[in-house]
This record gives sequence, C-alpha cells and structure tokens, in this order.
Amino acid sequence: MRIILLGPPGAGKGTQAKMLKERFGIPQISTGDILRKAAQDNTKLGRQAKTLMDAGKLVQDDTVIGVIRERIAQEDCRNGFVLDGFPRTIVQAEKLVDTLKDMDLSIDAVVDFVVDSQVLINRLTGRRTCSDCGAMYHETSRPPRIRNVCDVCGASLYQREDDKEETIKKRLEVYQNETAPLKEFYRKQGNLKTTQGCGSVEEIFSRVCSMVT
Ligand code: AMP
Repeated sequence: MRIILLGPPGAGKGTQAKMLKERFGIPQISTGDILRKAAQDNTKLGRQAKTLMDAGKLVQDDTVIGVIRERIAQEDCRNGFVLDGFPRTIVQAEKLVDTLKDMDLSIDAVVDFVVDSQVLINRLTGRRTCSDCGAMYHETSRPPRIRNVCDVCGASLYQREDDKEETIKKRLEVYQNETAPLKEFYRKQGNLKTTQGCGSVEEIFSRVCSMVT
C-alpha cells in the first residue's frame, strides 16, 4: 500500500501517518523529519536545509527527490509506505511518478486534508514536539502530563523553529503557491480523496482508513 498524505502544515498529516504506520505496518516517510534529523546531526544535507526550513521556505526539489529515492529503495518499503510532506511541488510529484515507474510501482491513494487556516495557525503555534521520539503535543488541546516532558519517552519538548507565528504565515503562503496545485495534479490522475482534517484524531483516522483500503 503506497499512500501520499497532502495538506497544509498543521493539517494532521504526521499524526495520521503514524497511525497508518501502526495499522498497516508500513513506514512513515516524512521528508521534514529526515531533514530535521540531518540538521540535528549537522550533516552537509542538514546544513543546506536548515536555513531554508527555519525561514519557512522549501528545500530544493533535487535535494528532497534524492532523499526520497534513497529512502523508498530500502527494504522496509517493500510492502509500501506513507509519504508525509512529500511531494510538495509539481516537479517533485512528476519525479516521484518516474521513480516509481522505474521500480514498476505506483501510488494507490492520495488523501488531502482540508483545514481552515485559523485552525492551522492555532495548531502550529501551540505545537510542541519531543526532542527524542518525535511525539507531538499541543499546549492546550493535548498537553503532556508533566509540562514540557514527553509522556512516551520522558525527553524534553521543544517548539520547532518554523512553528513561530511569522514563519507559519510564510509556510502557509508557500503551501498555497507551491503545494496546493498538487490537488489538481492528483485529481487528474484519478486517485485524489479529500477529507476534513477536523474532529478527533480517531474519527479522522477512520475516514482515512476507509479511503485507502
Ligand atoms: P514539515 O515537517 O513537513 O512541515 O517540513 C518542514 C520543512 O522541511 C518545510 O517547511 C521545508 O522547509 C522542508 N521540507 C519538508 N519536506 C519538503 C519537501 N517535500 N520539499 C521541500 N522542502 C521540504
């Protein structure tokens, strides 16, 4: 099962991707997570990506396409994967088609999450992420049991540099200009499914499951 999750920052792609990973036993591939890890490890890729990420801009297409090609060739992607945050431009989507074609594969479903922009801003400004396991919290709607401490692994929580309000506005603008056109791209390919990204995570997950199975 090969799935793409589309939608603006804060739409819930990461949360739903983690749930799909658990339910179907396929890896979650988040280009954002891969790039953040590279930045944390101070690799060449990470250093190149960090400035752009912190400014809310997209990392170059060739760079992320290289990351994805390498990742989906790995053994654990044999039975499928969930792409979370990739593709983000038409060029990336076209290169993904070519890459999968070379491997004799294709995408089974593209799920687009629709969420009001004020809700997105509230979700992102309040988002706190675990510095170790990546679990996500929200200051008011999903606080950890102990302030700033991850319920899952006990590591400290942090606010992503790009989850600050000015950067969020930039990210939403980039989304409208660069990523939203992908809906038309996948609509034409016939595999776009759209769902509201509001409601409990379980409700959304049950809608997503009925769309991908
Ligand atoms: P995310 O965690 O998906 O919100 O991504 C965080 C940041 O990583 C984005 O704002 C971009 O700077 C970068 N990024 C992640 N995925 C991509 C992608 N597919 N293309 C370009 N930049 C990306």
